[in-house]
Order: sequence, then structure tokens, then C-alpha cells
Amino acid sequence: MRAALGFALVISATMAASGAAWAQSSGAACSNPNALGLSRTVEIDTTGGPGFGFEHFKQHDFLRNKEVLLTFDDGPWPVNTPAVLKALADHCIKATFFPVGKHATYYPEILKQVADGGHTIGSHTWSHQNLGRKNMTKEQAVEEIEKGVSAVSISLGSAPAPFFRFPALQHPPELVTYLGERNIGMFSTDLDSFDFKARKPEQVVNTIMAKLKKFGKGIVLMHDFQHVTAEALPQLLTQLKAEGYKVVHMKAKDPVKTIAQYDELVKKDQKLPTVSQRPTASVVRTVD
Ligand SMILES: [Zn+2]
Repeated sequence: MRAALGFALVISATMAASGAAWAQSSGAACSNPNALGLSRTVEIDTTGGPGFGFEHFKQHDFLRNKEVLLTFDDGPWPVNTPAVLKALADHCIKATFFPVGKHATYYPEILKQVADGGHTIGSHTWSHQNLGRKNMTKEQAVEEIEKGVSAVSISLGSAPAPFFRFPALQHPPELVTYLGERNIGMFSTDLDSFDFKARKPEQVVNTIMAKLKKFGKGIVLMHDFQHVTAEALPQLLTQLKAEGYKVVHMKAKDPVKTIAQYDELVKKDQKLPTVSQRPTASVVRTVD
């Protein structure tokens, strides 16, 4: 018994050591018996830059009938992102986030909460420009992509997943090629919630449920940046459970590799660095 226990400890210590290089938190254990829960987790190998989401790519139909994969763009943002995280945690599910680089530098502590929840984090450019714009050069577009990757990585304190979503779902062919050479996977969507146009939470829920009924499954695009989405999420998750949908979580096989030159650009854009990395909440508190 003693010998067996010792052996088990050695194994777990070895696993912990090998996992340290690419740490993806699995989040807290689930204690809600009525939770939607995760049905399975898939690992994506982004070598060669595969494309996902049937609105734009015809490859890799990996979801089964009744399976959904939830994605959230444009965060991290105060109030809304934490509300989305709470709704996901209440249902013991994980999602994929595509943060905007600038927003990540504004609110690194919120981005870290996303990682601590066990969610997957990719990137969504530095400042959310439409990379298909006519007057944008390839160099400018590459800088937008790479500064986004670097900003998320610096704010998080570790490299995110090599997952990228184009703003406004504009996919210029030369940039699709570029991301392929960078071994970064591209994620469009199977069904767009159009939550940024919705005024009421019910509209977000109804749009997603109607499209899921039509397609049977899909990668769902939402925005943790949007207040209406944060409000809609508890209801959406309850309805997904009631109608028998299953949530799939997606992880990356390896982290993205940032490019030093763009790491430097992001650091230059930030305000004067200080030695302290403590969050504001632990530095400033209301005392009276
Ligand atoms: Zn966006």
C-alpha cells in the first residue's frame, strides 16, 4: 500500500513537471448537479494554420450533432467579461476567448481571470482593425496580428493558444497564407449571434437557438465585450441544457510563439513600466 502510494506520487509529480511548460488551467471542480457541463475536450494541432467555421472555411467538421462550441470576442472588459465567466462557471463549461490586444493591456487582471477559469485564449488583433480594408498594407496588417498576439501574451504572463479570429470576419487571402506559415489556426464561425446588434438578452438567445435548430450544432460567435451578451448567457445556457445540446471545449496542442520585435513594440506602447505587477485592487483600497 505504502509502495503503491509512493509510485502514484512519482507519476503525478512527473505529469506536473511536463505540464508546466504549457500550463492550461482546468478551472475549479464542478459542484452544480444541474450544470450543462462539458461533454468532451478536443485538442487542436494548428500546424499549417487550419481554418474552422463554415461561414468561411470548408475544412475540419469536428463537431457532432447537438454539439456546440462557445466563443467570445473583443474582451477583456470590466463587468461584462466577469459576468460571462460567472455564467460559464455556474454551468461548469469552458469556452474560447479572442481578446483584443489593447483591451488585454488595459485589463490584464481580467484576462488572467479568464485563464484561471480554465478557458482557452487566442487573439483578435491589436486594435480591432478590419484587415481587409483597401488602404491597409500587408505590413500594417501583420503588425496588427502580431501585436495582438504579443499583447495577449504579455498581459497574461504566458503565451496564449495559436488561435486567431479576424475582426469583422474579413479574411484577406495573403493573411490567411501568412497565418498558415505562422502555424496559427483561424476561427470563423458556424453561427453568428449578432449580439452586438441586439438590444435585449432574449434576442441573443433566440438568434442562437434558432440557428442551432437549423444547423444542429456549431461554433457560436458571441462577444464578452457586450453587456447584452453577459445578461443573456445564463438564460442561453439553461436553454441549451433543456434542449439537449452538449458543450465541447477546445484546447491547443502547443502555445503560440510570439515574435520579439512585436513584443518590444507592445512594451513601448504601454506606459512607463514599474517593478510592481500587483493588481490595482491590492494597491489601492477605499478606507473611508
Ligand atoms: Zn471583434
